[in-house]
Amino acid sequence: MSRSAHPAGPRHADVLTEGHYSAPAADLNVLDEKVWARTVTRDADGALTVGGIAVARLAEEFGTPAYILDETDFRARCRAWADAFGPDADVFYAGKAFLSRAVVRWLKEEGLNLDVCSGGELTTALDAGMPAERIAFHGNNKSVAEIERAVRAGVGRIVLDSFQEIVRVAHIAQRHGIRQRVQIRVTVGVEAHTHEFIATAHEDQKFGIALAGGQAAEAVRRALSLDGLDLIGIHSHIGSQIFDMAGFEVSARRVVQLLAEVRDEHGVELPEIDLGGGLGIAYTSEDDPREPHEIAKALSDIVTRECEAAKLRTPRISVEPGRAIVGPTAFTLYEVGTVKPLEGLRTYVSVDGGMSDNIRTALYDAEYSVALVSRTSDAEPMLVRVVGKHCESGDIVVKDAFLPADLAPGDLIAVPATGAYCRSMASNYNHALRPPVVAVRDGGARVIVRRETEEDLLRLDVG
Ligand SMILES: *Cc1c(COP(=O)(O)O)cnc(C)c1O
Repeated sequence: MSRSAHPAGPRHADVLTEGHYSAPAADLNVLDEKVWARTVTRDADGALTVGGIAVARLAEEFGTPAYILDETDFRARCRAWADAFGPDADVFYAGKAFLSRAVVRWLKEEGLNLDVCSGGELTTALDAGMPAERIAFHGNNKSVAEIERAVRAGVGRIVLDSFQEIVRVAHIAQRHGIRQRVQIRVTVGVEAHTHEFIATAHEDQKFGIALAGGQAAEAVRRALSLDGLDLIGIHSHIGSQIFDMAGFEVSARRVVQLLAEVRDEHGVELPEIDLGGGLGIAYTSEDDPREPHEIAKALSDIVTRECEAAKLRTPRISVEPGRAIVGPTAFTLYEVGTVKPLEGLRTYVSVDGGMSDNIRTALYDAEYSVALVSRTSDAEPMLVRVVGKHCESGDIVVKDAFLPADLAPGDLIAVPATGAYCRSMASNYNHALRPPVVAVRDGGARVIVRRETEEDLLRLDVG
C-alpha cells in the first residue's frame, strides 16, 4: 500500500505526519455542518436524519453499507456553481467523481454541463438525456471507437491530450464530414496541493502537452492546420483538493501567455479557456473550503487582469468541479460489527464495508471524519480506527477519529463527504458487493444505483 501517494501529489506527505490526529471535539454528538450534507440533522431521539428520514429507517430499508446522497444538497450546489459563474462562463461537472443517470438528469435540470472521460461515462450521459453539445470528452488515451462515438453523437468539445490524438480526432471528424470543436490540454508547470502549490518549468506526468519547450504552441499550430478541427481554446487542470487559489493564478497567467503567442503568430484569438477542477472540500473540521462565488470571482479577476496585461479580449471561462459538487452531498452508512480495544494504542472498529467502497484512505492517505448516527451518547471519547472487513491490513476507512466509548456492535456509524471518488472507485475486492446509492429528498428515499448481488458476480463469471 502506498503511504506517500496523494491525489494532490507526493509533497502532501510533508503536511500530514504519520499518526496525525487532532483532539476530540468538545461534543461528539454535534455534527459539523461543514462536513455533512446540507439537510443532515439530529432528530428528537438523537438519530441522524437526512432529507427528513432517520438513518435507522434507511438502514432497514436499503441495508448497509450504503451511500446516502442528499439530492436537495446536490441540486443546491449545482445552482450555486451555475449562479456564481453566470451566463458568460460554463460549469462542467466532472462525471468521474460520481455518475449515474439520476445525476445526469439533475445536472441537466440545474443547467450544468458534463465532463466524461470514457465510453461508459459517455453512454450514461447520453442515455439519461444530456444534450451532446453540453458534454466534454476527456482522457489521455481515448480509443478510436470512443472518439468515433463522441464525434457521431456531436459532443460539444473533445479535449485533446497528445499530438497523436490531434491527428486521430481530426481524421475521424473529417471522415464524418464535420469540424469537431476541440480544446488542447496543456500542462502549465503547476503542482497544486491541498495547502500549497509549486510552480515549475516542467511537468512529469501523463496528461496534456507541456507549455515548456514550445510544445503546446506546436500543438496549436497543428490543430489550426487541420480541417477536421475547430480549436476553441486551451485547457488546464492543475490538481485536486486545492484550497489555495495561487496555483490557478500561475496557471491562468501561463495559459493567457499562450493565447497571446497564438494571436501574435496566427492572428487568432482563441475564445475559451478552461481552468479545470480540483477545488477542495471539507473532509474534516480542519478543512476550510471556499464558496463557489469566491472561487468564481477569484478566477474571473485573474483571467481578466492577465488578459488586460496581454491586450487580449477576455475569453469565456469554464471550470470542471467534481468533488466540490458531489463530495459533501453523500455519506456512507455502516453498521458496526466488532469493537476491538488495543491496550495503549487505539480501538479498532470494524464495519460491514471498507476499502471496496472507499479506497481513498488506502490509496491517498485521505482523511475522513466519522460519527455515531443511530443515537447520541454521553460516553467519553475513545480514539478509534475504522476498518473494513477485507483481507488486507491496509483496509482502513478512517485512520484516526474519536467515537463514544460505549460504541457497540449494531450501532450505525457514518462517514461524511464520501460523494466523490468512493462509489466511482468502488471495487469487488474479496467479491464484495458494491453498495447502493440511495437518494433522499423531502422525506422520500429511492435507490439510484442498486446494490450488487451475488448473481451479478456470477453473471460476469462465465466459467
Ligand atoms: C478529475 C478532473 C476534474 C475534477 O476534479 P475534482 O477534484 O473532482 O474537482 C476536472 N477536470 C479534469 C480534467 C479532471 O481530470
